[in-house]
Amino acid sequence: MSSTLQGIGVSKGICIGQAYVYYRELPEVLEYSISKYDIDKEVKRFEDARARAQQQLENVKNIISSDTPHDITLFIDTHLLMLDDPVLFEDTVSHIRARLCNAEWALQAQVDRILSVFDEMDDPYLKTRKDDIIHVTERIQRCLMNEPELNHEHEKLESGKFGAHLKGRIIVTDDLTPADTLLMQHQKIAGFITEYGGPLSHTAILARNLGIPAIVGVHNAKRFIQANELLILDGNTGEIHINPAKKELSLSKSLIRDERQRRKNLFDLKNKPAQTTDGLKINLYGNIDRAEDVRTLRQYDHTGVGLYRTEMLFIDHNDSPSDLPSEEKQFETYRRALRSLKGHPLTIRTTDLGADKELVNTTQHGPLVHNPALGLRAIRRCLKDPSIFLPQIKAILRTAGYGPACMMIPMISCVSELDQTLELIEQSKVELKARRVRFDQHIKIGAMIEVPAAALAADSLASKLDFLSIGTNDLIQYTLAFDRIDDEVSYLYNPLNPAVLKLIQMTLNAGESQGIPVSMCGEMASDTQYTRLLLGMGLQYFSVQANSLLEIKRIINRSEIAQLRKQSEIIMSLSDPQEIIQAVDEMNRRFS
Ligand code: PEP
Ligand code: MG
Repeated sequence: MSSTLQGIGVSKGICIGQAYVYYRELPEVLEYSISKYDIDKEVKRFEDARARAQQQLENVKNIISSDTPHDITLFIDTHLLMLDDPVLFEDTVSHIRARLCNAEWALQAQVDRILSVFDEMDDPYLKTRKDDIIHVTERIQRCLMNEPELNHEHEKLESGKFGAHLKGRIIVTDDLTPADTLLMQHQKIAGFITEYGGPLSHTAILARNLGIPAIVGVHNAKRFIQANELLILDGNTGEIHINPAKKELSLSKSLIRDERQRRKNLFDLKNKPAQTTDGLKINLYGNIDRAEDVRTLRQYDHTGVGLYRTEMLFIDHNDSPSDLPSEEKQFETYRRALRSLKGHPLTIRTTDLGADKELVNTTQHGPLVHNPALGLRAIRRCLKDPSIFLPQIKAILRTAGYGPACMMIPMISCVSELDQTLELIEQSKVELKARRVRFDQHIKIGAMIEVPAAALAADSLASKLDFLSIGTNDLIQYTLAFDRIDDEVSYLYNPLNPAVLKLIQMTLNAGESQGIPVSMCGEMASDTQYTRLLLGMGLQYFSVQANSLLEIKRIINRSEIAQLRKQSEIIMSLSDPQEIIQAVDEMNRRFS
């Protein structure tokens, strides 16, 4: 029977595919009693699950490519050995027999006992084996509960081949970490549905960047959608059709075809300048998360990068709390990105770790941190722990020695924070000079304006910097006081709120009066409904999702700046949010 669910469409487009229901967290292990007549059946259920877990690992072993490094595949053999370990298995079977309980519960009891022994150990190597036991147990538990296979292998292998079973599927899950989303990038999935998360969560941003339709905030999606059911995901309306009727299917297929054609036509604009009809040149750059993303960017346009979010490099390398990319590793990675840009500029943002972009194995946030977005994130965290920050500063300074790379600081909220940062940059230059390595003494340094206080102080900040870049995702979150990753309050996201527009205008004016460029790299810049207004307000540097580049360029190239300026002035004089929305709609209709 067909049915429909409603969520928040966060990445446009329609896709059709079978559901892949993915539990990031294992469902709770529950205890229930069995009758003594069912003991053998329960033991057999346990042994079958163990055999299935073994089979899964053997399959992984066969499927991975022969050039996968040995240290990465080693864990498969370790897990296979553990699956043969008599301590775990004989004791679990004895537990089932003695306590007349289900296999899941008996297994958990044995594992908890073993893990408590590991907790007493001091040896760091043996402590890491604890993770292996947890992963092996989870695998058997999933087999017992008939849950889909866990993806530790994906995390470790990132092998496109291994993830082939996700190709064309629609992932249905509670929530995704940025790392999960990136791994799925290699698997050519059709779309995402998550139970939580708002339109500005990093996951939503990544989905848009990958051009994959996505819907968030579909509470209980995993309960309503069964594995392998056919779905239509409409990222424009936020609707999910489960087991759609034939008529619905053919309508969606034709919409997908039209959209594909429309996107194909946009490629006529590839490598053409972005320029208004009255001759104003606009700088249109792309946002990237990893050095490899330059390739995707270049599929759309040969241009520079206005925002390189470097957190992914840290998240990818974070197997343990102390495991972070070295200066050398960072330098190599940034240089690779710069090289692939072939002379176009690269704006490297120093890490914005914390809140929605947290390390997996962090020691930074204890349970008492209730507002991570207001806590120790981004530049605050870097200034608190220069041992993380300094290698990155040096890596960026060195990269800039080889081409047009600049450094951008996120979440600056006052001049003293900027002064501390500039001091660390100067200190790093002195060190690099002493080491006699190549770097750019005159690197361009900019700050992101994403805290209302920074927009209000933009003049003073601009006087010490080479550029500013407006991060509307955070600027709007902090101005309107809603959590960007909480779907319950995502309705409050409104880039056209007059307070937000005023802060943007103040930042643009500060740049103009101090004679430095102001860019916008938040999601507002990638959304075509705001392009004309932003142009009219004076924005001349856009850094957008690769996927939106050509669409934004088309609007720019059909716009007359003089007309947009007049219209934007009228809009900026309005104070009622609803009137502003209507006026922007009207402007878009009139000039499209
Ligand atoms: C922003 O806040 O607008 C921004 C670009 O940074 P991020 O989304 O990475 O926080
Ligand atoms: Mg931000």
